[in-house]
Amino acid sequence: MTSPRVVSVAPGSAAALAGLVEGDEIVSIDGLQPRDVIEWQMFTSEADLELDVLRDGLSFELTVPKGAGEALGVEVQSAVFDRVRTCDNHCEFCFIYQLPKGMRRSLYLKDDDYRLSFLYGNFTTLTRFTEADLERVVTERLSPLHVSIHAIDHDVRNRMLKNERGAMSLRWLRALLDHGIEVRGQIVVCPGVNDGHVLDHSLAGVLERFPELTSVAVVPLGLSRYNTASAMRLHTTDEAQGVVDIIESWQATFLSVLGRRMVFAADEYYLMTDRDFPSAESYEDFEMHEDGIGMARTFAMEFNGVSSDATGVRRGFFAAVDLPANPAAYTGLRSTCGTDAGEGLSSPVALLPRRTAPIAVLSGPLGSRVIAPLIEGLGREDVRVVTVDNEFFGGNTGVTGLMTGADLTRVLNEQPAGHRYLLPDVCLSDDGRFLDGLSLADLPRPVEVVRTDGIALRAALEAAA
Ligand code: SF4
Repeated sequence: MTSPRVVSVAPGSAAALAGLVEGDEIVSIDGLQPRDVIEWQMFTSEADLELDVLRDGLSFELTVPKGAGEALGVEVQSAVFDRVRTCDNHCEFCFIYQLPKGMRRSLYLKDDDYRLSFLYGNFTTLTRFTEADLERVVTERLSPLHVSIHAIDHDVRNRMLKNERGAMSLRWLRALLDHGIEVRGQIVVCPGVNDGHVLDHSLAGVLERFPELTSVAVVPLGLSRYNTASAMRLHTTDEAQGVVDIIESWQATFLSVLGRRMVFAADEYYLMTDRDFPSAESYEDFEMHEDGIGMARTFAMEFNGVSSDATGVRRGFFAAVDLPANPAAYTGLRSTCGTDAGEGLSSPVALLPRRTAPIAVLSGPLGSRVIAPLIEGLGREDVRVVTVDNEFFGGNTGVTGLMTGADLTRVLNEQPAGHRYLLPDVCLSDDGRFLDGLSLADLPRPVEVVRTDGIALRAALEAAA
């Protein structure tokens, strides 16, 4: 158990007026030790706090006058102060097993912690979930949660998680739904393992046993060139077609029985099969935008001015917390959609080319296929899309969020100097680093970081005077 350590204090806040400073450790709040930022938020929302503080090895008490519900005005260093609950599964498709050595430590963390599911949208298998966890989730209304399903069949789920408790853990999903907790499900499809009739059976099981689920996102497994599990392979086009067919057929069933489509295929499936993306209405509320479902559709709508609101990362409860606690460290590879992480970041301004210079939009191979037609529609000869193939991870890692500094360096070295290079912020952490640890300053050309949505890209293109 560690104590929350203050990383910043908002000027003029209750914390600042009381004298809290960066580096202080908050040992207790009104005699209570928070286990995570959820409890931190609850405890600090009370009026007039009595804090036990540790500063430079010295302990002292500090009274913080404030109103009930008023933000304390402190950002702390992490989301969890006891230990993040790690996962006891050994899924062959786990991307963490497919990472090269030497990356940031946080990327190797196999978490299976319902708190991170609530705070950051991480998926949990519930194999380590307990009665006490259920009580806390229900009491504190930690909703929505995000649960990995993969398969309803006992044997297949056990085999996929490589955990004999895999299938049994779905009883917790039933319990969560029974208590009115909103749950979003996910199925990672491994061809030859849980596609075809297994997927069909899983969706039938969802309808029969878990119809209260908010949604089920069906995504293809991610494979890097470091994969050593021989049973894991890419989809063939026919297999991808089969997945989309099953989903679209089940959407019709769910719609007629429940009045909503429930299950959605990742954008990657439509790219793999060269099918048109479904209409905006078919995505209903774009619930699973963060999971790569409907992103192409929203991006086009934003870019073309059909939608005036950018669909960014939704942090739910956490958006209201005054301590961001670096969610990027936890979402790691899972998150492939727009964030404000890179807003305001750019290579050194003095090196930026003039606004009227030719523009290159940098994107991963999958993103390029979405963006290129939109750019073409502008009829501008000064704008091009530059595709950054992912040689760092290899495999099918074509999503823009996995672009690394090494790959960008390779590509930018072949591009002319003096052009504007627009980089989506989704491939950067809060502190401006790529997954491979390189930063913007390491790139051979200055780049402008643009929020990953159609509105921001359009605005950046129109900024050319
Ligand atoms: S995919 Fe998730 S549940 Fe499976 S081993 Fe990796 S972290 Fe654990």
